[in-house]
Amino acid sequence: MSKTDEYEVLIIGAGPAGMTAAMYCGRAMLRTLVLERGLAGGELLNTEVIEDYPGFEHILGWELAQKFESHAKKFGAEFVQETVTCVRKQDDGTFEAETESGTLYRAPAVILTAGGTPVKLGIPGELEYAGKGVSYCAICDGAFFKGQTIAVVGGGDAAVEEADFLTRYAEKVYLIHRRDELRASKILQKRLFENPKITVLWDTVVEKVEGDAQGLVTNLKTRDVKTQEERDLAVSGIFVFIGFRPNTGIVEGHVAHDDLGYVVTDQNMETSMKGLFAAGDLRAQLTRQVTTAAGDGTTAAIAAEKYLKALKDEGGVPMIVRTGGYAV
Ligand code: NAP
Repeated sequence: MSKTDEYEVLIIGAGPAGMTAAMYCGRAMLRTLVLERGLAGGELLNTEVIEDYPGFEHILGWELAQKFESHAKKFGAEFVQETVTCVRKQDDGTFEAETESGTLYRAPAVILTAGGTPVKLGIPGELEYAGKGVSYCAICDGAFFKGQTIAVVGGGDAAVEEADFLTRYAEKVYLIHRRDELRASKILQKRLFENPKITVLWDTVVEKVEGDAQGLVTNLKTRDVKTQEERDLAVSGIFVFIGFRPNTGIVEGHVAHDDLGYVVTDQNMETSMKGLFAAGDLRAQLTRQVTTAAGDGTTAAIAAEKYLKALKDEGGVPMIVRTGGYAV
């Protein structure tokens, strides 16, 4: 291990939940570290425009991400770009987070806000053509498909919203959905159906991604699940939005979760492991929005503060008192 650093709260993941928790932990004058493997923003960076975050009728995803980050930093939260490989509870009740670089970070409380990873279709050609026409991020890759014909797979908010977004670049977008009804919200559906560049292929699944000699996507083998009719669909790109899996595998030991793997918490966002809190997209709940992530992060931070105070009062884990105020 290269070094060990001590904090009062470790926050794993810098999406809306993590950055909100960081802001509240900072305001509580707790020595707080946010560990994030990529850029701060989480799912905000996969969303072009946010128009359902109160106070912002229209704001770009990356722009809101930057505001969240600078707000958390203003109140003293530290950010480090590192991939956490393991979070483990030690015999003395504190937590240790180990990163890919071998650094160990320790704290008596951890807030897990690591979100999720896009679900793959699991079909031939999907991994082979990843980055060569197969994508899981419209905002990252959309501009590569100017004037082209592409496909989007899925029927949830992400697929419907991104299909609409991708028509800024693509000439034609097929939305391929395995059923005859979308689960996306009605307002997103309305936009989709009103967009003349989008054709919905109902009851259809993609069975294979095919490409040319240069290794670029050229064709999809699809099947109508009702008629069993097979079809070749000439496209140069396929964007897959069929949900994502919660990133909970880094926690060592058992933490209660639901059937889909989402972490179960109490109303204070505390998991079944004392001192480990969870907030945002990896938490079992009805919906996953920026607003709910921010709400979760708020509760988790305040609950973590109370947890730390109780520990201190009991003379348990020593508290690190932060010196100096926050920058204003
Ligand atoms: P989701 O709501 O779980 O939808 C996943 C979609 O993919 C469903 O339509 C599902 O079909 C389909 N699907 C799943 N597995 C498939 C497979 N193997 N092959 C083909 N299709 C498959 O996921 P999401 O759209 O990523 O959204 C996740 C959460 O983020 C949701 O709570 C959503 O509301 C939120 N979100 C909100 C916004 C927004 O409000 N602007 C934007 C993005 C995401 P079935 O319908 O048949 O199950």
